[in-house]
Amino acid sequence: MRFYVETFGCQMNVADSLEMARRLRARGYRATPDMDRADVVLVNTCTVRDHAEHKALSFLGRLADWKELVPGRRIVFAGCAAERLKDQLQRRFPQVDAVVGAKSISDFDRLLDEQGLFPGVGGGSCSGPPPPLGGPSQKGGKKILDERGTVPLFDGKKEWTDAWGWSAGLGPSGLPGEGATAYITIMRGCNFGCTYCVVPSVRGRELYRPALSILDEAAERVANGQREVLLLGQTVNSYRPVGSNPGRDGKDIRHFSDLLEAVSALPGIERVRYMSPHPHYIDELFAERLGRLPQVPPHIHLPVQSGSDAVLSRMRRNYTRDDFCRKLDLLRRHVPGLAVTTDFIVGFPGETDDDFEASLRLGREADLDGAYIFKYSPRPGTASAQGPDDVSDALKEERLARLMAETDSRSRAKMAAWVGQTQTILVEAVRPEGDGFELEGRTAHCRKMYVSSRRSAAVGATLEARVDRADGKTLYGTALDDRV
Ligand code: SAH
Ligand code: SF4
Repeated sequence: MRFYVETFGCQMNVADSLEMARRLRARGYRATPDMDRADVVLVNTCTVRDHAEHKALSFLGRLADWKELVPGRRIVFAGCAAERLKDQLQRRFPQVDAVVGAKSISDFDRLLDEQGLFPGVGGGSCSGPPPPLGGPSQKGGKKILDERGTVPLFDGKKEWTDAWGWSAGLGPSGLPGEGATAYITIMRGCNFGCTYCVVPSVRGRELYRPALSILDEAAERVANGQREVLLLGQTVNSYRPVGSNPGRDGKDIRHFSDLLEAVSALPGIERVRYMSPHPHYIDELFAERLGRLPQVPPHIHLPVQSGSDAVLSRMRRNYTRDDFCRKLDLLRRHVPGLAVTTDFIVGFPGETDDDFEASLRLGREADLDGAYIFKYSPRPGTASAQGPDDVSDALKEERLARLMAETDSRSRAKMAAWVGQTQTILVEAVRPEGDGFELEGRTAHCRKMYVSSRRSAAVGATLEARVDRADGKTLYGTALDDRV
């Protein structure tokens, strides 16, 4: 029995997909990169913007033909779009066999057991097609793997259920995307209430994973050769468990800065990244740790969303433009040369020309290394979607293009300044090239870099390389060992 996984959306979804894949593997299912050879397709979805949800649904639409082709094929629809749409899904997409909403993903294993939909097939052997669906215990011939009532509410006071965490000992899932970097979820949900954002409603309130569970997973991943970890949470630096939360030395891990220090102290760890921090929780202690811990790279992705105080206030972001700039100053005082990337939304309801100019100015003055810019997209059920989406699409497009031109030109200038310098890259992929190899990796500042090398290198290894040239978002160079 083989399964194929298609993941839409953020790194948290990638981490969730890998975890679900491990659970399927533990039941004897094997991952395949080829959908045509799969018996089960697991689609993990995103709903943060209309476009993301649309992509997931058109993929699901195309799966109807895939399913028809071979009797017994199954489709599991999981994640944020599944959570948002679950009541409509069965009607609109009868090809779906099981829906696992984002709030129920942590119960994936138990739900599979209870529903008997994916019985263990044992030792990875192929035991023929699954039994046909439609038994007496199934509503309308479908299984709905969603039990909102039984999933603990994630409010930061309740405990992380160990139904989810790290499936210790299961090892890598065998899926693409599990390369040099170990994606490690440290919290779920979000307690902020940004007025444009659907995340709190589909992922629920914050729940923090116990430090020991995080540290054990990180240590195991490092031992398996993944020497970079990416700590994941919707607002990763709001990690603040209540009650006892001991680290490996028995001392309590109170907040994100402590966790960063504890993960950095694991033997053999090379880099500790985190995504996405929220500006509200950037403080002196965090900045000090960033400056002091050599394992934490000099790069931060810190979403700002807008440069206008009026818009930030209507977005309910909990900071002003000045607050954001002060946080950047604090970080840069502790980490000279810190690379900063951010997210902007353009065309938020009521965004005037002056508001947009303020975002442009921030893009210029904050000395950014790069920005992801999104056109505002109203999400059903959010506060801002109650009012009109009153910036025309043409104007959103124009603002997106102008802000992108501004941030891209800064980014290019910063990239050009790397030429001639030596960088340490963490190898993510290796390909033969002429007499030698092309190594693909990332610098400490999180820039993609391609390196020509006479020698090969292991995925996950680090090496020194000189930057020979740069274009928009990529650096090109030569391994230092190759130079005389
Ligand atoms: N938790 C992170 C962001 C998660 S969503 C934070 O608070 O920073 C990732 C990005 O999608 C956001 O930073 C925002 O720029 C964008 N986004 C979220 N909702 C959006 C919407 N309704 N329309 C357009 N962009 C949106
Ligand atoms: Fe959404 Fe705001 Fe929470 Fe980020 S902090 S996930 S943008 S509500």
